[in-house]
Amino acid sequence: MPMETKKKRIGIYPGSFDPLTNGHLDIIIRASRLFDSLIVGVLRNDAKKTLFSMEERVALIRKCTEDIPNVSVEMFEGLLVDFVHEKKADAIVRGLRAVSDYEYELQMAMLNKHMSPDVETIFLMTDINNSYLSSSVVKDVAMHGGNIRGLVPETVIDDIYRKVKAK
Ligand code: ADP
Repeated sequence: MPMETKKKRIGIYPGSFDPLTNGHLDIIIRASRLFDSLIVGVLRNDAKKTLFSMEERVALIRKCTEDIPNVSVEMFEGLLVDFVHEKKADAIVRGLRAVSDYEYELQMAMLNKHMSPDVETIFLMTDINNSYLSSSVVKDVAMHGGNIRGLVPETVIDDIYRKVKAK
C-alpha cells in the first residue's frame, strides 16, 4: 500500500507589525515550533495609518526571522479568511496580552469562524516579560527619545530610530 503523505501544517500569524516588537517575535518563534511552516501575514490596510510602510514592516520582520527556516513573511490585503484559504493554511495564530485583548480577539475569531467554519484561530499567551509591549508603546518611547532596547529585537533598533527621526 502506498504510504500516505501527511499534509504539512501551515499557520498564519497576521497583524500590522508597525513595527515588530519582542512580543511579536516571541509569538513567531513559539508558533514556528507548532507548525511545519508559519507565514507572518502583514496587513495592508490603507484605512489604518501606519508609521512604517508596508515594505518597511515586511523588511523588519524578515531581518529578525531570517534564521528561522520555516518562517516566511508575506503581505496580504482584504479578508484574512481569504488569505488563509489562498495559502491552504490550517490555523490563524494570534497573541493575547491583557484581558483587554480578549474581547476584540474573540470578536474577530467568531467573525472569521462565521465566514469560514473550517478556519481555526489559536491563541498564544504573551510571555510575561512582553505583556506590556505593543507597537504603539515602542513608537511613543522612540519618538520621545527614550530607550527602546529590550522592547524590540536588537537588529532593528537603529531602523526604528532612523524612521522616527525622519518623521
Ligand atoms: P493588529 O493590528 O492585527 O492587532 P498587531 O501588530 O498589533 O496587529 O498585533 C498582531 C498580533 O500580535 C495580535 O494578536 C496581538 O494581540 C499580538 N501581540 C501584539 N503585541 C504582543 C505582545 N507583546 N505579546 C503577545 N502578543 C502580542
